[in-house]
Parts: sequence; structure tokens; C-alpha cells
Amino acid sequence: MSKKVNLLLILALIAATMLAACQPAAVATEAPVVTEAPVVTEAPLVITDTELNVLCTPQEEWCQGMKQEFEAKYGITVNYVRMSSGEALARVEAEKDAPTFDIWWGGPIDSFVSAKGKGLLERYDSPNYVNIREPDLMKDSDNMWVGVYVGTLGFATNTNWLAAHPDAKAPTSWDDLLKPEFTDQVMVAHPSSSGTSYTALCTILQMRGEEAGWEYIKKYAGQMASFTKSGAAPAKFVGQGEAAVAIVFSHDIVNEIDNNQMPLELTFPAEGTGYEIGGQAILKGAKNIQAAHLWFDWAISPEGQALGPKYHAYQAPTVNGVELSHPELISEANLIDYNFQWCGENKTAFVDKFTNEIANAENLKQ
Ligand code: PLP
Repeated sequence: MSKKVNLLLILALIAATMLAACQPAAVATEAPVVTEAPVVTEAPLVITDTELNVLCTPQEEWCQGMKQEFEAKYGITVNYVRMSSGEALARVEAEKDAPTFDIWWGGPIDSFVSAKGKGLLERYDSPNYVNIREPDLMKDSDNMWVGVYVGTLGFATNTNWLAAHPDAKAPTSWDDLLKPEFTDQVMVAHPSSSGTSYTALCTILQMRGEEAGWEYIKKYAGQMASFTKSGAAPAKFVGQGEAAVAIVFSHDIVNEIDNNQMPLELTFPAEGTGYEIGGQAILKGAKNIQAAHLWFDWAISPEGQALGPKYHAYQAPTVNGVELSHPELISEANLIDYNFQWCGENKTAFVDKFTNEIANAENLKQ
């Protein structure tokens, strides 16, 4: 059975369980039953590290929340810097002889695959790998990185813009983005800084093949109102009416709709969409290695992953024993068999090609 089929089956099963559990009931419901996972969160006997330096790629609110939760649980001070995936990879590479950070948490694993290829990561045989839903897909075979969440790519369309353009419809295919009504009305991050945007780029190259894919990407880039630095930002800008459509991870769209009351409609490209496995890894030369191991284990425990929704992070978990907060983000998306290895190994080359031949990375919108 292919890895994609496995992932879909597992997540769809969980999604179906969640959806069934969400049917109206006469009596207040208990939490839906989820698979029990072996939980191994024992700390090493003596921890001498008093701080941990985290390179944090998810949204600021989740980074801050995880810092506070970890500090409260383990009494170790967490210093973090939030950076988008491409910036994080560049920083890790620049600091390879004297790393500032001990652990890199979050952002699509394409960047972790690339970092592994450049010799930037430290192997760790975590006892909590037993928790991972789909180890063949969600964990590096050499234990250099592991998945900490799953997110699917979608489109966010401003509903006020749709009301003002009654002949236009929210896009439901990648080709819809090329329609004349969306010229200068689409927003995505730049793939040099953003893992979200790189996932979109590599999705197209896989679905269409490199030749037709790059042809499409040239036209797609011509439709952009502007490129942003961070992957989630276009959903916010489109919600504020700066453009009509954003290409972002669907959990970021849900966040803008549910928590910021943005007038957005979420759609998925029917012919297929890419997805991310957000990763984490310990950096080669990490100074606070015990604390890094502790974070690594905790981030792939049900307890650590159940914290996401508390901080408005609606990605699907990668461990057993945690409910999906938004199962429809998996079940309604037609996921392609995204090739993380190929996208990771070619990341530098594809990003350079995009930057040099299609759209440079100067003056990105923040
Ligand atoms: N923020 C959220 C909520 C994400 O899901 C992801 C993806 O991993 C990122 C940030 C990554 O950000 P970027 O696309 O800026 O690299």
C-alpha cells in the first residue's frame, strides 16, 4: 500500500470518527474515542541544561504557547526565534559551525530533508517514535527528523470581493487562478522564505511534470498582487481586502475565519492539492542536548500535540491518541502523493530557479 494511501486511510478514519462524533446528539457528548497510543515521556534522570534555544517556524502564538507550556512542565527556560522555513534553513546553514539553536520545530519537512542532505541535523532515537501514526511517511529513516503535524494547501477567497464580482467564483482548480478576473488579485508567499509557498510550487511541479509545471508557474506568478515573506500572511491580507485569493495552508484559513472573523471562503483544488508534514529536528552541534531531547520527545507525545488548538493551531496531529480539531481539512482535500524526498532534495535548485527566472525576492510584503 502506498504511503499516501496509508496516510489518507489513517487520517480519513480518524476524520470519519470525529465527524460521526460531531453529529447532533440529545445528550452532551463525551470526547470521541481515539486510538490509545503508548506514551513514553520519561525525562532523563539528571538534566543539567537550564535553557533551550528553539528555532520556531509555526505561527507566533503557537511558538509562544509551546514555550510557556514547556517551561511550566520542565522548568527549563525556552528562548525562541520565529522564522519562516526558508529563512530558518538559511540560518541553520549559515550557523553550522556554531549553532545558536538546539532544536528546529515546525515548517514543512522539505526543508528538513534539504538540511539533512547538507549535514546540518543530529540523529536522535526518540523513545516516542512509537507514538507516530505512520512512521514510514512521518519519520526520517535515519532518525534525523520527525513529523509534528500535517496541513493541507487550500485557497482563501474574500467573500466581500465575491459579492462585488457576481460573475466570479471562488477557485476550485489551479487553472482557475489564471482566470482574467484574478489577474493581480492572488497572493502567496515567496518560496525562498516560505515553506507554504514552496509546498505549492512543488505540488505543481509534481502534478504537471517539470516542463509544463514551470510554464504554469510563470503564468501563476504573473497573477500575483504581491509576494509575502511568511506563508500564512496572505490569508490575513486577503481577509483585509488587499487581494481576492490567497494560497495558504487550510488551517491558517480556518484560524482567520474562526478567530479573526475574516470574510473568507475556503476551497480546495479539485484535481489535487499538496500537503505538508511539519517537522522537527535537533541541530548538529546543539549545546543543550538533554533539553533538546526532552522537547523532541514531548512534541511527539499526545500531551504535547493536543496543545495545538489551545493556541489556534489546527493542523492534524502526527501521533496516535489525539483528536483532529478540523477533520474536514483532511477529508475534503484531494491530496496528491506529495514526494517529500524529491521536493526536499530539489528545494535549493527549484527556489533558485523561481527567484532568478520568475520573481525575485526583493521587497517582499511582511
Ligand atoms: N505557520 C503555520 C500555521 C504553518 O502551518 C506553517 C507551515 O508549516 C508555517 C507557519 C510555515 O511558515 P512559512 O510558510 O512562513 O515557512
